[in-house]
Amino acid sequence: MILETSVAIVGSGMGGSTTAYGLAKAGIDCIVIERGDYVKKEDANWSAREIFINQKYKPNEKWLDQNGKEFTPGLHYIVGGNTKVYGASLPRFRESDFAQIQHKEGISPAWPFTYNDLEPYYCAAEQLYKVHGTTGEDPTEPKRSKPFPYPPLAHEPYIANLLERLKKAGVKPHSNSMGVDLASDGACIRCGTCDGFICKLDAKSDAQTCALNPAIKTGHVKLERNLKVTKVVTNGRRVEYLLAERDGVEVKIYAKKYVLSLGAVNTAALLLRSGQVANSSGLVGKNFMMHNNAHIAAFDARKTNDVTFQKTLSFSDWYFDGGNGYPLGSVQLIGKVQGIMMKSYVTKAPLPVLNYIANRSVEFVVMNEDLPSLNNRVEITKSGGIQIFRKALNTSAHKEMMRKTKRVLRKAGFQGIFVQPFDISMNSHQCGTSVAGVDPKKSVVDQYCKSHDLDNLYLIDGGFFPSSAAMNPALTIAAQALRVVDKSDLKEVN
Ligand SMILES: Cc1cc2nc3c(=O)[nH]c(=O)nc-3n(C[C@H](O)[C@H](O)[C@H](O)COP(=O)(O)OP(=O)(O)OC[C@H]3O[C@@H](n4cnc5c(N)ncnc54)[C@H](O)[C@@H]3O)c2cc1C
Repeated sequence: MILETSVAIVGSGMGGSTTAYGLAKAGIDCIVIERGDYVKKEDANWSAREIFINQKYKPNEKWLDQNGKEFTPGLHYIVGGNTKVYGASLPRFRESDFAQIQHKEGISPAWPFTYNDLEPYYCAAEQLYKVHGTTGEDPTEPKRSKPFPYPPLAHEPYIANLLERLKKAGVKPHSNSMGVDLASDGACIRCGTCDGFICKLDAKSDAQTCALNPAIKTGHVKLERNLKVTKVVTNGRRVEYLLAERDGVEVKIYAKKYVLSLGAVNTAALLLRSGQVANSSGLVGKNFMMHNNAHIAAFDARKTNDVTFQKTLSFSDWYFDGGNGYPLGSVQLIGKVQGIMMKSYVTKAPLPVLNYIANRSVEFVVMNEDLPSLNNRVEITKSGGIQIFRKALNTSAHKEMMRKTKRVLRKAGFQGIFVQPFDISMNSHQCGTSVAGVDPKKSVVDQYCKSHDLDNLYLIDGGFFPSSAAMNPALTIAAQALRVVDKSDLKEVN
């Protein structure tokens, strides 16, 4: 079977769907090729047991860690990719994240473009993904040329009280930048099954709902589901076609331009498996990053947490300087954790005990910047599988941040603090594996995500990040996708 189009986009997650949206608006025909299917609307979408214990929407796929131990990656092979389950926390990176920064354990390198270059596209991405937020609360917020398109999500009483407790403890809490459809006629009902779950109401700003569906409606975009791309075939400085497979049938995809948005690890894996495609730099798969993160449950026996939609507040006081002259990161509320969700980590604890804790706890993610290293990398095993070599870097900054966060939470009156450090399977913020840069010897793609080696290949997903910053990645991927469509020659297909 043969498919032909102007632009072939592989992957329907944040990078792929947003690129398709931008191209569709510019009147360019594309095919989005997605290995997964639409997620069914079913009870399991909102079932903590199905999602966190039975891992219903995770792929039946194992990767190896650096010791050869199998793990299930933090991925979702479905239309919309990881954004179908993501927490829709959509902050911008800070201006300084685009410049070289000295961290305690090394250097966070500069990007080949600046915050100002991306700023108009952050505005466009915030509009597209219905981002709610406000200015004037966060001392680290970057400059913006337009206000947030939607007002901040109101804090429920427990969180409003938490805000006062945190202020008294010495930090400056601020509203989260959140992508949900909560306008006056919006579909969001502020339920407790948003972060980590699939939205049955299409009210979470995922890539399918906000970008792919409207792109398809223009008539310029076709979606090919259950079609897995297996090889990129090149001829000289051009991609000639893609090989894909559906139900044992081989499909060849011909296009004038090709965009790979399989997610940072899978894009690198496809290029490596295809015979080191786009890899004259030797950097495809290298510099794998995923943040240094931990979940914290702060427990107060005296106060029931009756919140439904918890993820409305963060504090970023130590983002630029944790007190020792080095940046630390951000502390953000996450969706309200249920006892059964805690069981996926503390497997032996009885459920009633976990429910007791969850009813009296409030949960955060503590997020620190990871640093790029050639040793942290994606490799293809002899049997064709994926192996991730990673030794976490900048961990002293993470430890310092955890100490400071715990101190603040204790001061705010929490008596117990439970910690779940992220392991390699929690790699949903993966990035860095096809780094963008100016010098073809030191980078895989240019500032517009175009391959240095191939004239019709673009890599638009978390892979292009030269550094991970200490903020959630999805809005930056979306903004860059819109910038690539606007500024690069991707649209030139005649
Ligand atoms: C539980 C969870 C919570 C998260 N919360 C947040 C958050 O609050 N804020 C935030 O910014 N980020 C969050 N993230 C991370 C965010 O979802 C990712 O950063 C983002 O989706 C990455 O976009 P991407 O385009 O790189 O990849 P993805 O969105 O993962 O898309 C990749 C797509 O490629 C498809 N694909 C892969 N291989 C092939 C192939 N061979 N052929 C065809 N198709 C293929 C996949 O099926 C998938 O649809 C979260 C992630 C998870 C898992």
